[in-house]
Amino acid sequence: MDLIIRRAAIQGSEGLHDIGIRGDRIDVLTPHLGERAPVELDAAGSLVTPSLVETHIHLDAVLTVGQPRHNRTGSLFEGIEIWGERIKTLTHEDVKQRATTALKWMLAHGVTHVRTHVDVCDPNLTALGALLEVREDVRDAITIQIVAFPQQGIYSFPDGEQLMIRALEMGADVVGGIPHYEWTREYGERDVRTVLRLAAEYDRPADLHCDETDDDQSRFLELVAAETVRLGLQGRVTASHTTAMHSYNNAYAYRLIRWIRKAGVHIITNPLDNSVLQGRFDNYPIRRGFTRVKELLANGINVCIGHDSIMDPWYPLGVGDPLQGCFVMVHYGQMSGRDELEMMLDLVTSRAAACFGADDYGLGAGKRADLVVFDAPTAVDAVRTMAARRWVISRGRVVAETQPARSTVRWNGRDEAVRFVL
Ligand SMILES: [Zn+2]
Repeated sequence: MDLIIRRAAIQGSEGLHDIGIRGDRIDVLTPHLGERAPVELDAAGSLVTPSLVETHIHLDAVLTVGQPRHNRTGSLFEGIEIWGERIKTLTHEDVKQRATTALKWMLAHGVTHVRTHVDVCDPNLTALGALLEVREDVRDAITIQIVAFPQQGIYSFPDGEQLMIRALEMGADVVGGIPHYEWTREYGERDVRTVLRLAAEYDRPADLHCDETDDDQSRFLELVAAETVRLGLQGRVTASHTTAMHSYNNAYAYRLIRWIRKAGVHIITNPLDNSVLQGRFDNYPIRRGFTRVKELLANGINVCIGHDSIMDPWYPLGVGDPLQGCFVMVHYGQMSGRDELEMMLDLVTSRAAACFGADDYGLGAGKRADLVVFDAPTAVDAVRTMAARRWVISRGRVVAETQPARSTVRWNGRDEAVRFVL
């Protein structure tokens, strides 16, 4: 063995396990492994899971908060205005440097797979060029998928379709779209049809920003599902946000959810951004503007959680930790039931990996050794305490390490350690 993790708690398994890693693979999981390895990590009863998968981030916009000015209202529309100003000063090095910093933050939080959107409504495709280089630079530790994302629309931006094709030819991994943002409903329908046609032609997955609005008349997801079935792309198509589903009438939502299941469309919800951006046109009561996560999951549809933004004009917070999305999801989606809490981490691990199409992912012999050791005994504790990622392992190597904070209280004249776990 090259690496052994000792005394690991594993979701769904009784007792503790040793995990033996040879090369970049998990070789064995067993209650006690007799042999030794040059690197041994003692999990000491803490939770070990497969690494985290970030399915929705905009690496071209990360870490630009306050440039050239702060978003005073916090609204989507002021964010778009500010981004329109910032994008004029976008350079290759600027994108590379910010994206790389954000990826280091994510890696420290256990993320080894990242799907990033990149705005291709730019005749020079500056950000795409930079992110293609970053994808190669970090390949040993992080697998990156780049989505060709037409931020201003495929048909509402000059030569939008040509730019999409150029981005795919240059090496973008995934076809993006934004039907609800196109100038007209007809353009939006063309957007969906083009995205899925390109996905079929170029044999790439598709991931569209879809119905990210509180407008209950925004209904492009049904066309995404229909085209997915027509073109035989089941399992390869993702709809991100789908916040309008919150506002659909129940009869329509019922019919739509059956359609999504039939098409095998993955849904990505982005609790951090959408909790602050949606419902901005409402007087009280203010809608939450979330997709119907509980109902989607109950109907056998794959749902995962994305971060979306880290410190950009739309969302000024974030440290690149998918667990923050889980924490907000519990509250905003009212998913505090015991079973819901226990599976919340799956929305940034196994379910996210299914959306990503990650090969060899999971905690089993023969799977690639991409693992996280949490400083918490259970998945619920990990989300509750936003537990430190004690060690992060990618391709069988330790790629990040965090010393957890330790608290002490002065209690009756003595120092006493406080651990926040029962
Ligand atoms: Zn997005």
